[in-house]
Amino acid sequence: MTLSADDLVEAGLVEASRLDEIQRVAGKFSVALTADMAALIDPANPADPIAAQFVPSRAELEIADEERSDPIGDARWSPVPGIVHRYPDRVLLKPTLLCPVYCRFCFRREVVGKRPAMMDQPALKRAFDYIRQRPEIWEVIVTGGDPFVLAPRRLTDIVRTLDQIPHVAVIRFHTRVPVVDPRRVRAALVQALAAEKAVYVVVHANHPRELTSRAREALTRLSRAGIPLLSQTVLLRGVNDDAAVLEALFRGLVAMRVKPYYLHHADLVRGTAHFRTGIAAGQRLVRSLRGRISGLCQPTYVLDIPGGYGKVPIAPCAVSAAGGAGRWIVEDPAGIQHAYPADPGD
Ligand SMILES: *Cc1c(COP(=O)(O)O)cnc(C)c1O
Ligand code: SF4
Repeated sequence: MTLSADDLVEAGLVEASRLDEIQRVAGKFSVALTADMAALIDPANPADPIAAQFVPSRAELEIADEERSDPIGDARWSPVPGIVHRYPDRVLLKPTLLCPVYCRFCFRREVVGKRPAMMDQPALKRAFDYIRQRPEIWEVIVTGGDPFVLAPRRLTDIVRTLDQIPHVAVIRFHTRVPVVDPRRVRAALVQALAAEKAVYVVVHANHPRELTSRAREALTRLSRAGIPLLSQTVLLRGVNDDAAVLEALFRGLVAMRVKPYYLHHADLVRGTAHFRTGIAAGQRLVRSLRGRISGLCQPTYVLDIPGGYGKVPIAPCAVSAAGGAGRWIVEDPAGIQHAYPADPGD
């Protein structure tokens, strides 16, 4: 279900006085929300973390100098339409640019929901040929947009084609559907993911309230089919930049058999300054989770370096050479420092 600016007002999710600002934002960036996410919003709470993620706001009209229209440099690494090949052993394949929701902080907001929304058959064929001709491609990451909005028949074609390319060992899907539109994860969709090769699903979730009983059911259908589940979270000011919120989110995910994979530092996306935290704030949060929650619940905190230089871990490092010759200094989760002997080769 796609909600227009008028629909948002009619549904009582935003005050009528904000209609004008929402229409202006919608003229620049796609807007959509599912019934499941709309139902989670408390309209009486001006800082509602679900509304903040999906309901447009005036702040999006403010573009900061450092913000970019291609924040992580996808275009630079796109040899053929629909493929991004930045790392030697893996490519992104983007069969659709449609999503069931449009996140206000999306790093692909300049393209998602816009035309051409789908790769046509000739473009898909060229993308598959690109993969087929390069034996170094070990993994294909099917993303978008959201690949789980595709009809199961189209997903089946993609999975079968990739499954038959001998050097492709892993097919990885990135999706927000199991969380934001869980009823879409029907038997036909799960069946479409069946393959000889390893199929992984990475779900995008940012707040523990997104982990509804319907989301749990959708994730259970996927894990019962033998699909390993991982998650990615974007660190967002006012949504989840709080240790208790992150703790509840990561515990909730692990309890649903989803291993937190990445915590992304928010990218320099146009009109999203209000969502960004500083890196130091992110490091404090990550440090506070260490030692406090299970290792299963700890994602890697990463930054995608603007310009297309790749993702790098930016969590605080517990070990330093500050001890001088022959000694490392290691900091425990309580902040107490310990000496550790250096190897002569260090
Ligand atoms: C994020 C990303 C990947 C996947 O990176 P992993 O660290 O393997 O999850 C691959 N290609 C591009 C272009 C990416 O942006
Ligand atoms: S689901 Fe992903 S691709 Fe789609 S709008 Fe949200 S962040 Fe962007």
